[in-house]
Parts: sequence; structure tokens; C-alpha cells
Amino acid sequence: MRDNHDAIGGDIHWLRAYLSKGGIAASEPDMIDPFGRKITYLRVSVTDRCDFRCIYCMAEEMTFLPKAELLTLEELDRVCSAFIQLGVKKLRLTGGEPLVRRGIMTLFRSLGRHLTTGALEELTLTTNGSQLARYAGDLREAGVRRVNVSLDTLDPVKFTAITRRGQLGVVLDGLSAAKTAGLAVKINTVALRGVNDDEFDRLVSWCGDQGFDLVFIEVMPMGDIGGENRLEQYLPLSMVRARLERHWTLDDTDYRTGGPARYVSVRETGRRIGFITPLTHNFCESCNRVRLTCTGTLYMCLGQEDAADLRTPLRQSEGDEALVAAIGEAIGRKPRGHDFIIDRRHNRPAVARHMSVTGG
Ligand code: SAM
Ligand code: SF4
Repeated sequence: MRDNHDAIGGDIHWLRAYLSKGGIAASEPDMIDPFGRKITYLRVSVTDRCDFRCIYCMAEEMTFLPKAELLTLEELDRVCSAFIQLGVKKLRLTGGEPLVRRGIMTLFRSLGRHLTTGALEELTLTTNGSQLARYAGDLREAGVRRVNVSLDTLDPVKFTAITRRGQLGVVLDGLSAAKTAGLAVKINTVALRGVNDDEFDRLVSWCGDQGFDLVFIEVMPMGDIGGENRLEQYLPLSMVRARLERHWTLDDTDYRTGGPARYVSVRETGRRIGFITPLTHNFCESCNRVRLTCTGTLYMCLGQEDAADLRTPLRQSEGDEALVAAIGEAIGRKPRGHDFIIDRRHNRPAVARHMSVTGG
């Protein structure tokens, strides 16, 4: 394996080419990390705030960032646009809950211009669905074609218990609005032992009826979640799959989205089910993504602490040279992989920051 330092020197030719041209050229070189992976996917957490407090994601009482620390919508647009010009093809806005950020549709509409030029192939979001009834039509108009909606249960009482304050009916109305607006929907379900593990068959059947794909996610040890115990919540997806196979015929597929999910197709419904298993599998070799927080910190790996500050170079000047140089330096430090563990002795998170900070 190449030494990390040498690799940085060898692989940021795209950055040098960029800088020597004094700006964005017509055809940009791609961002390649030290392990030869092309970075084409940026996830941006546009806020750390949320109208829910899901038991695996947040503590009941959360201290959110002071508003002054957040990138403005204009700054978010600038940094996203710089990434797009450097080769990002897919952009996902997430959070926190992206649709509770004030003025967020302005950002969606503005980023939609990159779809029109063809520089960006996909603009999408991950949402808890609470605001979808209001925004589905606007999202479609801005160029969004697919949404990921998190839904862990179809039981209204359990829904409020898991989210600590959400209403299932509101999310279901949001999902109807998404369908009416012509948005394809993927449901994200976190598999929680003793909480929703009696509902997996029902979710598969319901998604089949609705025409939604379904992705099961293993609980990841990120951030302090107060009194809840992640060891108790943890349910390996190998067990979820084995249980589903009692009632459904699951055919392995080659379908990949460039992300960590492995997909099967359900013969009885014709829909896909994905499994995201960061704890039991290593998917890092095909990782094409980086994550930006709402304060402008770039995480090169979901499971590592190393990060780069993009807010300072962003605010340093109106031109993008310093920003692009900082992005290049950061991509040159993208680690080979992560090392998630739920620490059984201490039962504490392997990564201290919350998923709502980095964006799921
Ligand atoms: N609020 C939006 C939502 O819930 O879809 C977007 C942000 S949320 C952090 C993104 C995804 O991360 C959701 O599907 C959520 O279920 C998942 N998530 C949050 N905390 C998690 C954890 N500790 N382990 C696994 N998935 C988690
Ligand atoms: Fe909010 Fe999403 Fe976290 Fe639930 S998973 S608390 S909806 S950010």
C-alpha cells in the first residue's frame, strides 16, 4: 500500500491544475483521494436542529449550536458549488432536519441551477418527513426527483415514542404529498432490538404497496444519546435479513448507489430492500463521499474524527481559491476507512459527535 503522504503529493494534480488556471476551468479534473477513490458525492448537514428527538440519534435535551456559527444559505451555496465544479455529481442535503432550516427552499432552488447545466446529476435530501406535505411540490420544482424519508415504525404510539415528539399521521401525509408530486421515495428504517423488530414484515409489505424502496440501517455508535442504551438497541442486520427470509424471497442484486447499502429485490413485491451495516461490514473501499457540517467542517470519513475547516477559507475572501485549496488538502487526507465499535465495557460512542451534526 502506498504511503499516505506520497499519495497526497501524487494525487492532487487536479488541484494544482485548477489553481494554475486561476479558477474553474471548462472541464474540471476529478477529485481523487490517496487511495484512488473519486469523490463524487457530498452530503451537507444544513442544520443541527430538528423537530424530533429520535432515541438513537439525540438526547431528550439537546444544546444546539448558536445560529451565528452556522454557514449562511449563501455560504452553503458557495461551498456546494465549489464541490460541484470540482467533480461532485450527487448532492444530498440532510441534518438535523433539513426542512426546518428557515429559507431552505431558496438553497434548493439555487442549487437546482447546477442540474440545469448538467454539472450536477442529482440533488436530493434525507428528511424525517414532518414538513414534506408543505414542501414536496417545491422540491420537485427545484429539480429534486428522489427523497429518503426516515420511518422506523407504522404504529402511531411507537412512532411518538421513538421520535419523542413526532406524529405518524403528519409523516404519512408528507409521504402522500411526495408521491403526488412525483418524487421517488426510499424509506430509511433503523433496526432497533425490542422496539421495531416485530414490524419488519409489515414494513416490507407496506413499502411494496406504496411503491417505495426500503433501507434498513444498523444503529451506529455516534454521539451521546442520554439515558438510552445502544447495546440494547443494537440488532445486526444479518438477523433482520434472516427473519425476512422466513416470509419473503430475497434475490441478491448488483444494484449499488455508490454508498454502503447492499440491495436485494423482493420477489413478492418487486421492490428493493437495502441493508446498511457499518458495524459488521467494511464498505470503505468503494467510498466516494465526504460530509460537510452546517458550520463548514468537512469530515472525510463518517467514522473518524479528522476534519477540515472550510468556513475560515470561505470567509477569507470572495474568491474561491483558498476554499478550493482547503478542499484539496482535505481530500488528500481522506482515510482508508473507519473503525466503529460499540465499546462493550464502557458502552460509549466510538465517535463523539452526533449523526445530526455530520448528517446521516
Ligand atoms: N432528520 C433527517 C432524518 O431523520 O431523515 C435527516 C438526518 S438523520 C441524522 C439521517 C439518518 O440517520 C436517518 O435515517 C436516521 O434514522 C439515521 N440515524 C440517526 N442516528 C443514527 C444512529 N445512531 N445509527 C444509525 N442511524 C442513525
Ligand atoms: Fe431528527 Fe433525523 Fe435525528 Fe430523528 S434521526 S432526531 S429526525 S435528525
